[in-house]
Amino acid sequence: MIKGLYIHIPFCNQICSYCDFVKQVAKPQTIEKYMDTLIEELKYYKDNYSFLETIYIGGGTPSSIPNDLLEKLLLAISQLIDLSKITEFSMESNPNDITEEFVQLIKKYSVNRLSIGVQTINNKLLKLLNRNHSKNDIIEALTILKRNHMDNFNLDFIYGIPYQTMENVQDDLEFIKDSQALHISYYSLIYEEKTVLDYQIGKGLLKPLDEDLVADFSDVVKAQLQIMGYKHYETSNYAFEGYQSRHNLIYWNLEEYLGIGLGAASQYDNKRLINQSSITKYSLDYKKRIMEDYNPKMEYLLMGLRKTEGISLTKYKERFQAEVFDNFPKLRRHLQTKLLVIEADYLLLTDLGQDLANQVYLDII
Ligand code: SF4
Repeated sequence: MIKGLYIHIPFCNQICSYCDFVKQVAKPQTIEKYMDTLIEELKYYKDNYSFLETIYIGGGTPSSIPNDLLEKLLLAISQLIDLSKITEFSMESNPNDITEEFVQLIKKYSVNRLSIGVQTINNKLLKLLNRNHSKNDIIEALTILKRNHMDNFNLDFIYGIPYQTMENVQDDLEFIKDSQALHISYYSLIYEEKTVLDYQIGKGLLKPLDEDLVADFSDVVKAQLQIMGYKHYETSNYAFEGYQSRHNLIYWNLEEYLGIGLGAASQYDNKRLINQSSITKYSLDYKKRIMEDYNPKMEYLLMGLRKTEGISLTKYKERFQAEVFDNFPKLRRHLQTKLLVIEADYLLLTDLGQDLANQVYLDII
């Protein structure tokens, strides 16, 4: 039963120095052609939408495409899917794309949640990340959202940026406190291969922050967000009760979803399929998907342990007709190392386990 639909829009106005997503800065004709193909693909899978509960338009930066093309897509979605049954319809956006027209347009088509890439409010650090917005743009975006009663939004933040200080992190947290965001995603900066940041580090043009300082940032972020009332429910995600990302929980609970668009992943009928990641090949043949190795028992643990509540041992048994520790005997030792704990019916990472999660994951893979 496919519960989530993911739609990928791979275009951005500018490429951030840390980003390794499937994205590009493209010419207007390329964007227009891509959006037509995307709608064709959406129509092609129309028989799979009866049980959908969530829709997520991600990227790239979906908000960066012209409003008329976005409306074409939203109109097609509204014609193919019964939006009254969709409990969460999310879209990613960047602060400087949030205008009155944009918010009114997405509200018209029942988008009820925005995820906004803020990353930090420090202008110098934003520049280092090559983000194309400033602190003022962020403030302006939130003012527009409030004026239009778009209250359900997530803010993405990053910590561990070169030159970032504890004071900068405290400023970001103060901003979050005043923002009235219902959901916060807070990631540790990763130097992904083949990114500008990775190149700069490799050439000695930038220095990564000291690991202990980054660990201190992580502790402060976790503690402060919880004091503000956010529940830490997944490795990098925090929400007020009732506002956890339902779409992402489909991934973390290893439920079925369909992805459309460039490089999008789908998972259903015990299969993992990936769309082509070359825009030319995708436009020529959007139906072609590549089957990936898929080991549901392993994935269930890897995804499930990201949730702070962990995985239900009963549900694991019902789903796989076996006990977790029979399938993964090496995991048992982490009850002794105190990286894992069993609480009632749930197997979860301890606080120490969250910091050293890779040691646990190595015994699952
Ligand atoms: S806006 Fe998002 S997708 Fe685009 S380059 Fe920046 S981080 Fe990557």
